[in-house]
Parts: sequence; C-alpha cells; structure tokens
Amino acid sequence: MPLETPAKTELVRDLLGRPLASLRVSVIDRCDLRCQYCMPEEHYTWLPSKDILNASELERAVDAFCQVGVRSVRLTGGEPLLRAKLPALVARLAALPLVEDLAMTTNATQLARWAGPLRAAGLQRITVSLDSLDSARFAALTRRNAHAKALEGIRAAAAIGFDALKLNVVVMRDFNDDELVALLEFGREVGAEVRFIEYMDVGGATQWSRQKVVSQAEMLARLTAHYGPLEREAERGSAPAARFRLGDGTRFGMVASVTEPFCGACDRSRLTADGLWYTCLYAQQGTDLKPLLRAGADRERLVRRIRAGWAGRTDQSAEERSRDPQRGALYPVEALQADPHREMHTRGG
Ligand code: SAM
Ligand code: SF4
Repeated sequence: MPLETPAKTELVRDLLGRPLASLRVSVIDRCDLRCQYCMPEEHYTWLPSKDILNASELERAVDAFCQVGVRSVRLTGGEPLLRAKLPALVARLAALPLVEDLAMTTNATQLARWAGPLRAAGLQRITVSLDSLDSARFAALTRRNAHAKALEGIRAAAAIGFDALKLNVVVMRDFNDDELVALLEFGREVGAEVRFIEYMDVGGATQWSRQKVVSQAEMLARLTAHYGPLEREAERGSAPAARFRLGDGTRFGMVASVTEPFCGACDRSRLTADGLWYTCLYAQQGTDLKPLLRAGADRERLVRRIRAGWAGRTDQSAEERSRDPQRGALYPVEALQADPHREMHTRGG
C-alpha cells in the first residue's frame, strides 16, 4: 500500500540555519572490495543480519525524512549491489511522491547485471567509484581482482543511459595522482562526469595521513599544466563538489573535504542499514530509529524524532578537524571494532 503524502510538509532547519534536504541510505555494510582508504584491515565486525532494516522499514524511514525536507536520496553502503532485492527497494523509494532525486554510489563490480533492472525500477543517477585505469593498481588498492568487472559495469550503465553517470576518484599521493588526466579522458569516453575527491580521515581510514592527501589546489595545478586554464563554475549551493570546466566545455568536480571543507552548506545526513541516523559523517553519536521503526511507529512519531534531531544539530566537524595541526586517523582500529557504526562502509559514503 503506497504511503500517503500529507497536504503540506514542514521543513526543518538546524541551529546554523541549514535545511535537511539530502539523505544517504547505507543499505548494507558488507562489501566485495577492500579499498585501502576505506577498509584496509583484515577483519571487520559486521552488523548482525537481524538488525538490518527490511525494505518496508527503510521505506517508512525515507518517507518520514521526506516530510521534513529530504528530496534527494542516495543509496550507498558497503556495496549496495550486494543487497538482495535491491531493485524492489529502489522501486518502493522511487514511488515515494516527495523523492525527487534517487541515486546510488557503487563500485560497479555487479553493475553490468543490475544496471537495467535498477533503471527500470526508477533509479535516476549512478556514481561509480573508480580510482585507477590500471588493473594491477586497482587490485593493489582494492585487494580484489575486479577491475574488468567494474569497467564492464560502468560501460553497461553508460549504455543504458541514466540521467547522470559520475565517476568518483579518491586521489592518494604516490598511488593514483599520476592518473588525473587519464581518468578524466576515460570519463569523457563513457560520458561520465569525474569527481576527484581528497583522501579523507573518515572512520575506517586507519592509514590516513595528511601527507597522502593531494589537495584540490595541487590537482587543479596538475590539470591546468595539461589542459591549460580551467574555469570554475560560480555556484555550487549545497553540493559537496566544486565544479570546473575544461576549455572544450568538459565538466569535472572536486570534493575538497580536507582542504576546503564545506560544513556551512551541509544539508546531508546518513542512515545506516540498521537504522542509526547520523547528522554528520564524523558524528560520534547517532539516533537509533530502529526501535521506533520496529515498534510500528507511525509517520508522525518518526517525523517528531527526526525533526528534534535535526533542529538541535550544530555539526561542523570537517571544519573543526581542518584546524587541528595534529590531525590523524579519526579512530584507531580497536575503536572501530568496538563499534562498526564508526566505519565509513557502515555509515555510507
Ligand atoms: N561501495 C560503494 C563505492 O565504493 O562506491 C559505496 C560506498 S563507499 C563508502 C562511498 C564513497 O566513499 C566512495 O566513492 C568512496 O570512494 C568514498 N570513500 C571511502 N573512503 C574514503 C576516504 N577515506 N576518503 C574519501 N572518500 C572515501
Ligand atoms: Fe571500497 Fe566502497 Fe567497498 Fe569502501 S565500501 S571498500 S569504498 S568499494
């Protein structure tokens, strides 16, 4: 039975005047890759499967978030394509009347198989994470031999034709910082906008150090050396990426979360697969929505909880961290093992 839309939604702002407009839903904490900037360890603590929200619970949660302002929903993980019956979940979320934008971030290893069903179910946009065009390097980064499958997945998504296809590239010093031009050219070839992302000290990035970060300024200098002058597009609103244009009009983005954090415009929050809601990627505490969802709480109760959580929000952690001269990994391994909700792959990138 489709959830009803009320006549009017009441938007909410946090204590810094920021609206809640975008929700990232981690649909599974498991992943088939082991990217060094995200899952560099040998062993992980997984969420108990009994705690994972089912499609109906996720739908009710997303519906409630929409009542206070969310219009843009991104499915992520872990690797979202490992979640069973993902197209059915996408169809439910796409049918929510207030969801205007439904996207997914994926490593694409299973995308060749699922791109068609997901598009048919109503998925609008896809972002694929791809950090290298060299298969040996990809294997070293991800500790899995899945480069060919990821490329196949990207080409399948390009052939099907989503409203937008993007490529996320996490740039790490002495690892893939010599591939900026090649990846941009690959993006052009497959019709995908590339976004270069600074290596972030998120939970899970236990090998992080400031020296391994290639700053936006440095990336732009390298691209300018190759392509000539770049144009920076004026407004980015609340989007995490600043956008640039090459002389021929090719667009690309930069996510400079480390050197130019953008907390002031942040309208995003994150829901884990087991119902913990975080108002910041770096937040120490989340709000557990699972008890309410499992107790059959109606929309109004869920909305009250979300509204209260957002109305008290003051998070500006990326900016605070940027002022810390001793900045290092956010958590040691033991702290991550003690609570997997601190992991990027649980919280959803
Ligand atoms: N497995 C999917 C994927 O890789 O696209 C979705 C989940 S992943 C956690 C979401 C995004 O977070 C990816 O684009 C990934 O590159 C990014 N990410 C993970 N760890 C990061 C880090 N330490 N710094 C910057 N981006 C990171
Ligand atoms: Fe890599 Fe995404 Fe898996 Fe993290 S969740 S290890 S970024 S593929």
